Amino acid sequence: RITLDKVTKSFGEAEVIPPLDLTIEDGEFAVFVGPSGCGKSTLLRLIAGLEDVSSGQIRIDGQDATETPPAKRGLAMVFQSYALYPHMSVRKNIAFPLRMAKLDQAEIDRRVTGAADVLNLTDYLDRRPGQLSGGQRQRVAIGRAIVREPAAFLFDEPLSNLDAALRVGMRLEISELHKRLQTTMIYVTHDQVEAMTMADKIVVLRAGHIEQVGSPLELYRTPRNLFVAGFIGSPR
Ligand code: ATP
Ligand code: MG
Repeated sequence: RITLDKVTKSFGEAEVIPPLDLTIEDGEFAVFVGPSGCGKSTLLRLIAGLEDVSSGQIRIDGQDATETPPAKRGLAMVFQSYALYPHMSVRKNIAFPLRMAKLDQAEIDRRVTGAADVLNLTDYLDRRPGQLSGGQRQRVAIGRAIVREPAAFLFDEPLSNLDAALRVGMRLEISELHKRLQTTMIYVTHDQVEAMTMADKIVVLRAGHIEQVGSPLELYRTPRNLFVAGFIGSPR
C-alpha cells in the first residue's frame, strides 16, 4: 500500500500541494481527477520520486519512500508522450529497462514475450515505433512498464494523445490489464468517463487538496459539493 502523510510540495514560494493525506491499497485502481494545474502530475511525480516532497512522508509498503531512490521504489510510470526510441525495434524498446537493469537474456526474452502477448503486440515486435499506430505505440510504452513487474503502475493521462475511438479501446485494455495483473494502478486523467468506468477509487483534486475520495458510485450519488458533482457528471 502507498501512504501519503501530510505531504506538501512547493515550487519556490508557491505551495502547489498543501498538506495532503491519502492511502492507496494494494491492487486498487485509483484515479486522480481535477482541473488543469490542480497538481495531479505533481502528486504522481512525488510518488514516483521524480520530485522530492517539501515536507511530510510517502510510504510504500511501510517503507519511507523519501529515503528510496526512484529506481528502487518498484513503480513504473507511463506518460502521455510515450518517448519511445525511434531507432529501436518494439522488442528492444520494451526490453530497454531490463537491459539497463542487466537481467540475463533468457529472462528478458521471457518477460518481453509475456508483455507482448498481454498487449497483442506479438506481431509487431520487429517493427520500429514509426511503423505503428498511436494506440500500438502507447501499448509499447505500457509494455515497457509491464516487463519491470512493478509493485504499482503510475499513468499520467496515457490516452490523451489518442483519438476518441482508440481511447475507448485502450481504456478497456488497461482495465483488463488491471484485472489480469491485480497490480496497484494510479491513473491521472481529465476524462470523466475514464474515471467513472476504470476506478475503484476516485480522488477529486482541486488546487492541490483533496475535495473528495470515494468509489465512482459514492461520488455520483453523494458528491460533497457542486465542484465534485460537476467533475463526476452527477445530476445534483
Ligand atoms: P494538467 O491537467 O494540466 O496536466 P496537473 O493537475 O497535472 O495539470 P501539475 O502539472 O501537477 O498540474 O501542476 C500543478 C501546479 O504546479 C501548476 O500550477 C504548475 O504550474 C505548477 N508546477 C508544476 N511543476 C512545476 C515546476 N517544476 N516548477 C514550478 N511550478 C510547477
Ligand atoms: Mg498533468
